[in-house]
Amino acid sequence: MATNMMDRPLLISGLLNHAQNSHPETEIISRRVEGDIHRYTMGEAGQRAKQLANALKDLGVEHGDRVATLAWNTYRHYEIYFAVSGMGAITHTINPRLFPEQIIYIINHAQDQYLFVDLNLLPILEALKDKISVVKGFIVLADKDKMPATSLPNVICYEELIEQYSDDFQWPEFDENTNAALCYTSGTTGNPKGVMYTHRSTVLHAFSSISNDVLGLSSESSILPVVPMFHVNAWGIPYAATLTGSKLVMPGAGMDGESLYELIKSEEVDLLLGVPTVWLNLLNYLDEINATLDSVENVVVGGSAAPLSMIKKFQETHNAFLIHAWGMTEMSPIGTVNNLTRAMKKMPLDERYQLQLKQGRPVFGVEVKIVDDANNEQPKDGKSFGRLLVRGPWIANGYYLHQDKSAFEGGWLDTGDVATLDKQNYVQIVDRSKDVIKSGGEWISSIDLENAAVNHPDLVECCVIGVRHPKWDERPLLLAIKNKDANVEEDDVIKFLEDKVAKWWLPDAVVFVDELPHTATGKLLKIAVRDKYQNYLMEAQAVN
Ligand code: ADP
Repeated sequence: MATNMMDRPLLISGLLNHAQNSHPETEIISRRVEGDIHRYTMGEAGQRAKQLANALKDLGVEHGDRVATLAWNTYRHYEIYFAVSGMGAITHTINPRLFPEQIIYIINHAQDQYLFVDLNLLPILEALKDKISVVKGFIVLADKDKMPATSLPNVICYEELIEQYSDDFQWPEFDENTNAALCYTSGTTGNPKGVMYTHRSTVLHAFSSISNDVLGLSSESSILPVVPMFHVNAWGIPYAATLTGSKLVMPGAGMDGESLYELIKSEEVDLLLGVPTVWLNLLNYLDEINATLDSVENVVVGGSAAPLSMIKKFQETHNAFLIHAWGMTEMSPIGTVNNLTRAMKKMPLDERYQLQLKQGRPVFGVEVKIVDDANNEQPKDGKSFGRLLVRGPWIANGYYLHQDKSAFEGGWLDTGDVATLDKQNYVQIVDRSKDVIKSGGEWISSIDLENAAVNHPDLVECCVIGVRHPKWDERPLLLAIKNKDANVEEDDVIKFLEDKVAKWWLPDAVVFVDELPHTATGKLLKIAVRDKYQNYLMEAQAVN
């Protein structure tokens, strides 16, 4: 039957057009790599994005071409997002924390035509330049007088480039199912895999994320996305903030407590977004200088589990609500969000904190289920563990130019996470499928153990892995970094855990270490820890 609704495409350029028309005065503030603070408006950003689109057209960038960035969160990176996708090309954000071989691999895999690079990230490319000859030119994100000497070939100054072009540019219209942005997941094994977002998936994700029950963005908001634009598009914030005309505060390369606090204070930031390690640093810094976050209302925490101590600290010291969220690169990334509900407002704080430890409920557009190894759906009782499967309009159905579809069978994405679901649909991530500890046929969550242990006042960071055991197949081993000057022993830690986890979950041993390995995105690299310690208990038994 004929329909009577207009079929207008959902395009990323539409977000920017909207901001230019309805929020031209909204500010974007950036800490530049040069160190100073830059301020301008969404209206000006829109004009400069058009200048850039004209420049890229002249450089020969065509519909569908990949154009890469190796850059921090700043206004220029924002302009690139909109110019490249807006003209029909694909923004490929590269994570500078990847290993050099991974960066070489993804640039060649994506066949990037041009690469935008921040001044302080140039050395990364200089070291790889002979292996990425597919790139036609390197556009340095700097003023003319700040252009450095570099061994890279075909270098262009960003400011010099765009000043030559007019801001008269008509964003082209095309099918909303056109590819728009590409982001590779770091992965712990094998080569990184590309997730390709479309215009439609990006705009739908933005629509969803602004709502009050999700991140709650509006033209009143002042937002600090500390999550980098090179990691799942800063959780989609550049798009969502443009939709609502929210003030954007971009931290550049300054992710330390002092730099973040300075921006939060001067720009009256009310919404923070980032991974737990960033907030640990900020909270420690605030304790040192005895300051509180007066303007902040909400802190969105994802990427790994938010510990109870952090939820409490934000609430009790800073009067800020921690919105625990879960997602992944393959999901654009938002999957579940634990925002404040009427019911939570009435709960005693301790009960509310327990609920906040869960990763929240699926946002509209995301469906979830948990299944066992035979793919049988598990009950929503808050206890049964299962592999977490998801589907929705901003969830990938395969990797970019990649044959392996094993994670995407039957129209669902297997997230690689193990979770419980309760009857209100709250998801609790129990572990990664490959990290869950299988002790005598029962499953132990390494994450729960880590969270319990890290609340010990003398421990800074904890890592729990399953290691080989002659009787139980696997048993938990806890590796912990002590606070400076702390005098804590193995027995103290076990005693501390005794009333927090089931007896059979207690680690068989605690090893104190000076550091723990992390992935490029700041997660514990458990594969490396397992390699080193997998026989720890076997060897201990042999010695005894
Ligand atoms: P990468 O590790 O490559 O950066 P992602 O950012 O896509 O990849 O990581 C997604 C994974 O991060 C999820 O599958 C989950 O294991 C973990 N994760 C994300 N948010 C949370 C959370 N709130 N609690 C626990 N784990 C989380």
